[in-house]
Amino acid sequence: MNENAEKYMREAMKQARLAAKKGEVPVGAVIVRDGEIIARAYNTRETGKDALCHAEIKAIHRACRKLGGWRLPRCELYVTLEPCPMCAGAIINSRIVSVYYGAHDQKAGAFGTLFDMNDFGLNHKPEIYSGILEEECAGMLSSFFAELRKQRKNASFGKNDEKNKKINNLNEK
Ligand SMILES: [Zn+2]
Repeated sequence: MNENAEKYMREAMKQARLAAKKGEVPVGAVIVRDGEIIARAYNTRETGKDALCHAEIKAIHRACRKLGGWRLPRCELYVTLEPCPMCAGAIINSRIVSVYYGAHDQKAGAFGTLFDMNDFGLNHKPEIYSGILEEECAGMLSSFFAELRKQRKNASFGKNDEKNKKINNLNEK
């Protein structure tokens, strides 16, 4: 386990905050190689209107561009929320060595909570470290959704406003 795991998780949390500022579910990720952050990204599923725009997928994409290949040797991924099945698949396909995640995801967590992608006998098994700064990572998500519920309540009076439509369409993760 990387002794600087919390430091890098804080960098992932900074990315998550940028997502929240744009009204996106606050999930952020960074990829670290030999002690250097080589990619940063946050969830932009709503603004990007794209199901693939999870923080981990975007970070992996950027890291591949940076290293010039589809393999990410010696790379560690730090993400504030447990990866979903899609992202867990991308992590395995890019041969990321280890994954550090903050909050567990009861609904979609694919590295130990809902199920464990490492149980399926795939040809690459990343090391998983869970619960890094878990309370803070989970706290960002719960306060985001609390705020969203509040806005939804107020928005129900003006359903046809563009802004309110967006709030009403934003699905909880
Ligand atoms: Zn995902």
